[in-house]
Amino acid sequence: MNARYFMSETIGKCLGCASDLPDAFLDLGEMPLANSYIKACDAGREEISYKLAVAYCPVCYLVQITHRVAPEDLFGNYLYFSSFSDAFLKHAQEMAGTLIKRFALDSNSLVMEIGSNDGYLLEFFQRSGVPVLGIEPAKNIAKVASDKGIRTLDVFFSAGQVKEILSVGGQADVIIGNNVLAHIPLINEFMLAVARCLKPNGSAVFEFPYLKDLLENTEFDTIYHEHVFYYSLSSIRVLSQRAGLEVYDADRQGVHGGSLRVFIQKGKRYKLTSGARSMLTDEEKFGITDQRVYKNFASRVKELKQELFELLEGLKKSGKTIAGYGAAAKGNTLLNYIGTNNKTIDFVVDRSTYKQGLLMPGTKIPILNQNELLKRKPDYTIILAWNFAQEIMEQQSQYHVGGGKFIIPVPRPRVI
Ligand SMILES: [Zn+2]
Repeated sequence: MNARYFMSETIGKCLGCASDLPDAFLDLGEMPLANSYIKACDAGREEISYKLAVAYCPVCYLVQITHRVAPEDLFGNYLYFSSFSDAFLKHAQEMAGTLIKRFALDSNSLVMEIGSNDGYLLEFFQRSGVPVLGIEPAKNIAKVASDKGIRTLDVFFSAGQVKEILSVGGQADVIIGNNVLAHIPLINEFMLAVARCLKPNGSAVFEFPYLKDLLENTEFDTIYHEHVFYYSLSSIRVLSQRAGLEVYDADRQGVHGGSLRVFIQKGKRYKLTSGARSMLTDEEKFGITDQRVYKNFASRVKELKQELFELLEGLKKSGKTIAGYGAAAKGNTLLNYIGTNNKTIDFVVDRSTYKQGLLMPGTKIPILNQNELLKRKPDYTIILAWNFAQEIMEQQSQYHVGGGKFIIPVPRPRVI
């Protein structure tokens, strides 16, 4: 066995239904964890790489990575941030308002959130007089929420913790999980715990990046080791049924390059909406429940790799300078997969002061303050955080007016 794989485990069986998994439809090779930024003094050290490949289960439609990294390796490297963009907070406010109205939540209700962070979402419920309980395993972040007056338990949401959670808050009218489902390997156990924590007529509301958008827009760089699963409505539906729950509604959200908000009930209060029904039909027509759509996606990813590699290397050979914008996890998947490094891309800028001064994992490209873009005036800047491309290009209009060009890598590389 290759020593570099020693911490990653081959799954082989579907994590949802335990059927044998077919071979991965997309193999991105070996790469370091997308959030394992390197201190400049550790630049010479060898990094640990892990296999990154995804497979599709034809039985329960669940798309999943084929090699799992030990949780202590994943979270040991995690950088936490407490500040959120305006767009992010606006989304949270909208969500709270929508759910309060839809479920007629009041002072007799309970809203529980799994992965509640510093309470930025629950705060909007609490301000409207709706009692809340946050579940946040990171103790330092849970404390920030508690200090703000948002009731928060610093435990992992799991079957083993259900008793404690219920003893503190009782069953919930609504359980929210935003961007948590992708991270939970023991997903059946998790869904059963959700069922136990809901009132008989309660609903769970989950948001996650939508697999159909990932496939359609060739967003392969949103695949990384931390994301065990990539969900469609079809796969969430099967998963819910297995835990005695039922999907009854879904709608599209613009955040994170295309997300899905799914409504799941414990009882039989709601009928499947026509919107959810047509989304399921759309998924089937699109091929979400068919092997071919995944094979087709994989060949587009390979074409993108070739095109982008040739574009960057060609520019470099003709003497142009290239920088990157956004030291996001997705940028690391992208750059490591296409096989570029700090010889081609001189630096990446990022607004996060936590990341400035560090190196990108694998490629070892230095991360600098965003002002360096105007100071150093690289000929080209590849936008790695492409989900904010419009916002970034507006902020950096001075760079563009001064002759700097942007490269947007997905769905196909284009120069602006
Ligand atoms: Zn399965």
